[in-house]
Amino acid sequence: DAAYNIETIRKDFPILSREVNGKPLVYFDNAATSQTPQQVIDVIVDYYQRYNANIHRGVHTLSQEATDAYEEARIKIQRHFNIAKPHEVIFTSGTTHAINLVANGFSSFLKKGDEVLVSAMEHHSNIVPWQMLCDRTGAVLKVIPMNLEGELIMEEYHKLLSEKVKLVFCNHVSNALGTVNPIKEIIDAAHRAGAAVLVDGAQAAPHIKADMQALDADFYTVSAHKMCGPTGVGMLYGKKEWLQKLPPYQGGGEMIAEVTFEKTTYADLPHKFEAGTPNVCGGIAFGAALDYMNSIGFGAIAAYEHELLQYATEKLLEIEGLKIYGTAKEKTSVISFNIEGVHPYDIGTILDKLGIAVRTGHHCAQPIMDFYQIPGTVRASFSFYNTKQEIDGLVEGVKRAKTMLL
Ligand code: PMP
Repeated sequence: DAAYNIETIRKDFPILSREVNGKPLVYFDNAATSQTPQQVIDVIVDYYQRYNANIHRGVHTLSQEATDAYEEARIKIQRHFNIAKPHEVIFTSGTTHAINLVANGFSSFLKKGDEVLVSAMEHHSNIVPWQMLCDRTGAVLKVIPMNLEGELIMEEYHKLLSEKVKLVFCNHVSNALGTVNPIKEIIDAAHRAGAAVLVDGAQAAPHIKADMQALDADFYTVSAHKMCGPTGVGMLYGKKEWLQKLPPYQGGGEMIAEVTFEKTTYADLPHKFEAGTPNVCGGIAFGAALDYMNSIGFGAIAAYEHELLQYATEKLLEIEGLKIYGTAKEKTSVISFNIEGVHPYDIGTILDKLGIAVRTGHHCAQPIMDFYQIPGTVRASFSFYNTKQEIDGLVEGVKRAKTMLL
């Protein structure tokens, strides 16, 4: 694609020119954390050099500038995800915080015998808070099963949906397998059954520009650090009606209307859920990260990453004994694999010696590993700044590891 200038894009990421163990870095751990372009780094530096201040409370110029930039970032997030109202965007420290906020709030709405559905391919952060919620309320956690390809068995999902189900939790894209779930069908069916839906969008957001009004999920969560932004900041999208009903998660400054020792009233949305000094710089940088990704375009990003996925899948499968977990028809650029007779950790260690960063282990999704009866996988996850040449390096590295370890 002539319009997609990979060389120009790569120059935006200073980290891509460093060396690891004397070799040029090949960064294939993008599903864990993406790298940061200079445009976003500049915004972070500019914040601390020029207008670092606490927000919302100050009358002085720096505080106003910081407040304006932070609220502008909220609007950028709102527009990016086509969210109806800016106060439906809650800044959080990331997906984990966002999910815990909702799970905590639902304690007041669930009773013994209610049911909560989670998919079989969730990240631990979308399992554990719901288990804690079920422990508190007596609600029952049930699992939407998946097949060997790593796709949810939708027939079973539809069977599980009864009037007892109050909530459904599912990721849009699986971090361990790359499966893109049929999220619209999941949401619509849950709503017909009278259940609310939280979609964990942590792995989808770097690849798919999700439209909140079209999707109609009740909640959607994102971490900025997976989409060219910094760590420690993310978004909880919630429908206004839900956010108004949910009790606050944390008490503190910023989230109140009035405080006396007898009684406190809470601030309006979104501040009700934003107690304490937020990650001001992080929020502003999150907005800059969205600007950066949109300047390349999510269509172009998806097309390029799909090409990388196909190329890498073909080349890796040429290696005898290599098995890919997660062969769903719709996938993002994630390849989870093992070589028969070799521990994933050993492959990861040898690849690191070659400057290639992959993830090994259970990827915070132990139930998936149990399903396949494996201790873990090697996961290579590609971003729009990776190249086919780098994939060739990975394939050579895996071949070398196999020879050394078998
Ligand atoms: N859900 C999914 C699908 C993820 O991939 C991750 C990050 N690995 C999380 C949730 C948790 O995100 P964070 O650590 O940024 O809170």
